[in-house]
Amino acid sequence: MDMPVKPINTAALEGDGLGCHTGNDQMLAAAQSAGKSEVLQRYAQDYPIPDGAGPHDQPQSMCPAFGSLRVGLRMRRTATILSGSACCVYGLTFTSHFYGAKRSVGYVPFNSESLVTGKLFEDIREAVHQQADPALYDTVVIINLCVPTASGVPLQLLPKVINGVRIIGIDVPGFGVPTHAEAKDVLAGAMLKVARGEAESGPVARPRGGVSDKPTVSLLGEMFPADPMVIGGLLEPLGLAAGPAVPTREWRELYAALDCAAVAAIHPFYTASVREFTAAGRAIVPSAPVGHDGTEAWLQAIGRACNVGQAQIDAAKNRFLPVIKAVLAKTPIRGRITVSGYEGSELLVARLLIESGADVPYVGSACPKTPWSAPDLEWLQARGVHVQYRASLEQDIAAVREFQPDLAIGTTPVVQAAKQATIPALYFTNLISARPLMGPAGAGSLAQVINTAMANKARFEQMREFFGDVGDGDQAGVWEDKPVLRPEFRAETRRQVIKMIKRRKADEMI
Ligand code: SF4
Repeated sequence: MDMPVKPINTAALEGDGLGCHTGNDQMLAAAQSAGKSEVLQRYAQDYPIPDGAGPHDQPQSMCPAFGSLRVGLRMRRTATILSGSACCVYGLTFTSHFYGAKRSVGYVPFNSESLVTGKLFEDIREAVHQQADPALYDTVVIINLCVPTASGVPLQLLPKVINGVRIIGIDVPGFGVPTHAEAKDVLAGAMLKVARGEAESGPVARPRGGVSDKPTVSLLGEMFPADPMVIGGLLEPLGLAAGPAVPTREWRELYAALDCAAVAAIHPFYTASVREFTAAGRAIVPSAPVGHDGTEAWLQAIGRACNVGQAQIDAAKNRFLPVIKAVLAKTPIRGRITVSGYEGSELLVARLLIESGADVPYVGSACPKTPWSAPDLEWLQARGVHVQYRASLEQDIAAVREFQPDLAIGTTPVVQAAKQATIPALYFTNLISARPLMGPAGAGSLAQVINTAMANKARFEQMREFFGDVGDGDQAGVWEDKPVLRPEFRAETRRQVIKMIKRRKADEMI
């Protein structure tokens, strides 16, 4: 069937083009006029940004498309191709390999001519045909970045299957998907949707390790590798087993994930994936087994969702909770800590820190508020913690300034700001997410790294004393002579910028 194709929107090529620098509104307007309203509306519902909140006039964190790209690159027998501006693809490829991708990133380049004439879409079609080799791949994923999305490149018109290889085309623009965390959900949800359709229409491949003889609980979220095993241990006395973690590492795991007794939304931002599990009739259990209270509530909720008797749930609690309590008491954390990040597990980390004895006045997450972090929100708020969903960099840094913590856990710019203020700081992604958080294994895992970092305060003060204001502000960079400040240059630039803004405003009113 021929589907109507909107003409390519050339706004993407006007001026200095569209990109992170353009601002969300212009990008959204271009994409809407190019026929992408439906997908953008769905993203706005799935990944909401409340009025007046939110960070994501890019670039404030990494390009969101990295989330989808990473999910594709981590799957066996999956080819992942990007369609976007060369600079975006360069950054995404660099980041992928920095984080240890073992596969190549495919790329369909374009120029203004191939975009305007629609040749880019033909090039994409040719690329997926070339890649769709069933001996090598189950799936080819093609990701539209900002400019092709804003221009309306119609990936939905690609064939769904070529030579038995599934073709999954998704739009992941920075102006529609606020964080790279949520971009993981865009691809995971798209894959679950296809897999659910396949499972509903006939027999599908068995999991590589065979089908579990116990009812399983599928896990939502990319966790530290030991965490799914620890969760499996917690489920065992309930007569349950851990199912696959979504995003999965292989296509056939998607069927096993759908074939579960319940889903544990360990990371709370997988809205599209939850939609697919719900359509398959699966119950979704919020929060995660972190610390004593978190594990207690989670065992109860999972047991209920899977129709496990109360006596068996209590037996599991009696087995694990005293151990967790003992480990927490043996590995105390004393000090004030602010937590911020974009991974979605910030509230869980804060719970663990508080149960370890830390004073946590602020938790900021770039992810949105969803029902699946509601128990964590409630627990934290009951202890006086300020929880900021869709936190901006400015809010995170303001919290560090206000609370003057002994340690700031955060994203790269938050850590940088804290260290400049002689406050010890740890990167959330590299140093906190790289440790187990769940059950007994998670209970003591943060103490050493956190206590060591907090003990470094004196070193930061020494450095501050030694370097003074060298390299600060206008004096940053490499200088051969003593830097000369030029306030008159700054005043001139400011004058020019104000003039330009006024001119733009006047143009808008015409
Ligand atoms: S694809 Fe990513 S890097 Fe490129 S313009 Fe969009 S948000 Fe920026």
